[in-house]
Amino acid sequence: MRPKTMSTRLARTLLASSLTLASAFSTAVVLAQQPANPPQTSQPQRPANQMKPEETEQWEPVPKVVTPGKMNSDAPSDAVVLFDGKSLDQWVNVKDKSPAGWTVANGVITVNKQTGNIETKRSFKNYQLHLEFQIPANITGTGQGRGNSGLFLASTGPGDDGYEMQIMDSYENKTYVNGQAASIYKQSPPLANAARKPGEWQAYDVVWTAPTFNADGSMKTPAYVTAFHNGVLVQNHFELKGQTLYIGHPSYSKAFDGAPIKLQAHGDKSEPISFRNIWIREL
Ligand code: MG
Repeated sequence: MRPKTMSTRLARTLLASSLTLASAFSTAVVLAQQPANPPQTSQPQRPANQMKPEETEQWEPVPKVVTPGKMNSDAPSDAVVLFDGKSLDQWVNVKDKSPAGWTVANGVITVNKQTGNIETKRSFKNYQLHLEFQIPANITGTGQGRGNSGLFLASTGPGDDGYEMQIMDSYENKTYVNGQAASIYKQSPPLANAARKPGEWQAYDVVWTAPTFNADGSMKTPAYVTAFHNGVLVQNHFELKGQTLYIGHPSYSKAFDGAPIKLQAHGDKSEPISFRNIWIREL
């Protein structure tokens, strides 16, 4: 009898184990079939003719109050002013982090090509940025050698490391289109050429969504940019393929969490360009 009892127990144990396994397996299958983020619809939606208007009103949280500037180009109340026409206190030379060596006179910054690129002391992640620039009226040169500078939406290292939105003279000046003014350099031509004549002030308004990275340094979510050049949409939620490179294909090779904003002192021989009224709102 004893062996039979043991075999019965064994059979019961095996049956119980297989049931547990089967239930675990079916749970796993159900979990695998569910989307990662199931929609928050615990109750079935009713048709509109059975609803009241109040049921789709949202009252909280109340958006913060931001006082806009007099003109849309003026800094709103919550902006960090990066250049107010007086000093380069917010900026340093990229190469050695010494005080920015570009020229400030008559309320504007003019590039000093000898001292090289400058960048903000502060780092930023996601933001809205306003910047104005002027190609000098006496500009000379052709193609990329005519008023070339650059707005690096994130500076990730020395020199031209980072993510550049091109600044140059694109008023009746032919070059490769993914390198003209308001392009994401060598990744995305602007949707339109909204360049003004040399001597006139121009504006970029940019919305930057920074890339994010996994713990192992691989890209988790890409960078996006939306931008206006003189009020004209030039980049519409463009998904960047990585850092902007002069040579080679872009990739997200360097992880970072917040980065300075950089302005380029391009090595061409044309007359240096100027900047004014630069502000940023962190998002
Ligand atoms: Mg450039």
